[in-house]
Amino acid sequence: MSFTTLGLSEPLLKAIKDQGYTEPTPIQQQAIPVILSKRDILAGAQTGTGKTAGFTLPLLELLTKVKPTRNKYAVKALILTPTRELAAQVGESVDTYGKYLPYKSAVIFGGVKINPQIAQLRKGVDIVIATPGRLLDLISQDCIDLKEVKFLVLDEADRMLDMGFINDIKKVLVLLPKDRQNLLFSATYSDEIKRLSETLLNSPVLIEVARRNTASESVKQAVYPVDCTRKKELLLHLIVDGKWKQVLVFTRTKHGANRLSAQLEKDGITSVAIHGNKSQNARTKALADFKAGEVRVLVATDIAARGIDIDQLPHVVNFELPNVPEDYVHRIGRTGRAGNEGEAISLVCVDEHEYLANIEKLIKKDIPKVWLKAFKPDPAIKAEPINQGGNRGGNRGGNRSSRPRNSSPQSSSKDSSKRR
Ligand code: AMP
Repeated sequence: MSFTTLGLSEPLLKAIKDQGYTEPTPIQQQAIPVILSKRDILAGAQTGTGKTAGFTLPLLELLTKVKPTRNKYAVKALILTPTRELAAQVGESVDTYGKYLPYKSAVIFGGVKINPQIAQLRKGVDIVIATPGRLLDLISQDCIDLKEVKFLVLDEADRMLDMGFINDIKKVLVLLPKDRQNLLFSATYSDEIKRLSETLLNSPVLIEVARRNTASESVKQAVYPVDCTRKKELLLHLIVDGKWKQVLVFTRTKHGANRLSAQLEKDGITSVAIHGNKSQNARTKALADFKAGEVRVLVATDIAARGIDIDQLPHVVNFELPNVPEDYVHRIGRTGRAGNEGEAISLVCVDEHEYLANIEKLIKKDIPKVWLKAFKPDPAIKAEPINQGGNRGGNRGGNRSSRPRNSSPQSSSKDSSKRR
């Protein structure tokens, strides 16, 4: 199927061509015509499926049909995302696909100065891409006019609910006109998502592609059994021996991410950590340095990595398994994207066997084990419980991969998930 059959006009087709896309992805094939027919949608699609273009392209097309009003400050389309990174990426997509159209957009998120955002909104923008917290700040300061919003997109709505944004979302919803089109994207259909969709959507068309818990076929998965205390050594071995140019490594905690990154640097491997305790500017810079190839290892926590879009990332390593099995699928979805082959390696110690069992249950298959002779786990070591300190997402308690056995877990600073 070609993009030309979907009902998009020339400025968009030209932008698509510039991107080098030859064929719409399944979510794009399904969502674009439905959105263009002005229906609400409830779409089950995870990052990596091309979902951003799936809603951005038809939204830009529909904007060309919105009659101009007298109020040049009125926002016409509002896209809500759970994280700053995702907001920035969606903003980039809006710019990329809308480059031959005259619409102005603004990306609004916390952790950076508010004044430049206010100044941008004062000039008048058509599309706002925002995280809920900062948007509410701007609303309370009367800096944004949502009375003429025609299109609302909730991107990664499940994650927004997980992060406790439901009340913020409700506060925004009451400010929007009733007559609008709603697009809800979510990787999972929890009861909460169902409830939200029932209140928000009008006879939605359901669209579903490659369910989240069926990991992409293009990702080769493997488990490397290893003692907790030798994980760093094994990671180093994999990077150096495999001559990996770049790798994204996941840890369960922010503290663990910092510590691992510092240790890698000491071993001469360029590395940077991203997590919710880092300033937005530091996170943006870390991601940019990694994308530019200046940093070899990006160490991230789950929430910080949400929505990270890095083309052709061949290796993802789970330095620690997540305790929420769905996060595993999301993590490994960072590789093997848009048709490229990818490899996802999990370093699993005896403490994590239960996590592994839950993951294998979710993905409905056993992940092949690779036993490296030099890293064979010591059978005398018994499992210890993993401390689940902190809240969901970035701070799931201590790990003992780099603390001596039987010592107390590292203290872990708690923070609000909204700050991530
Ligand atoms: P997303 O799921 O929106 O995060 O997109 C994942 C990646 O796929 C992004 O890097 C997009 O640039 C890319 N992409 C989106 N649509 C297409 C397409 N039709 N063909 C090839 N790549 C695409």
